[in-house]
Amino acid sequence: MEIRTQNGSRVSAVQAEGLIREDERRALATPGVVRDELPELRAVRVALSLLPAGHPVAPVARQSCREFGHQTLHTDAVACGRCWEHAIRADERVVVEFGLTAKDERPDPGYIDVVAVERVIEGEYLPLGSNERDEVIRRMRAQGCGPWTISDRLGESTRTVRQRIDELTGRVQGSQTQLGAAEAAQVA
Ligand SMILES: [Zn+2]
Repeated sequence: MEIRTQNGSRVSAVQAEGLIREDERRALATPGVVRDELPELRAVRVALSLLPAGHPVAPVARQSCREFGHQTLHTDAVACGRCWEHAIRADERVVVEFGLTAKDERPDPGYIDVVAVERVIEGEYLPLGSNERDEVIRRMRAQGCGPWTISDRLGESTRTVRQRIDELTGRVQGSQTQLGAAEAAQVA
């Protein structure tokens, strides 16, 4: 079974897995760089949800999907597409780290797991690295979220989040006057 993409081409579960692994390798090769979303990610994730229960990372995908209580497209699916993606990316990182990457070329701590970032923004709790926390702040700010909402997602104090926003935007710490009225209301 194949999934039709928006541009009319088709992608199978196996091809979808290949695309995710390839994308993960590119991410590892350019640590700290925020890249564009994989083209046709939606269709790719739907295709991933068709991967079989016998797949090597199926137990990881299944467990994560159950823990988060996600809905799957088919009742007999092992996991939703995003949990499959997460599990495959994690597996690919292990492959790269132990098989194909020299010791001095290990994945940088600046690496950003975009799936984990998305999940945290949507309200799940996942441990994130500092670069990923910054990415959550950037994305939520771009969506118009205030420090209070962001601190709720990250499980940090509003004060810490505001300080980080100031640092990320190059504002002087504590310069509240530069906050917009709506923002200031949300802080309070
Ligand atoms: Zn899931």
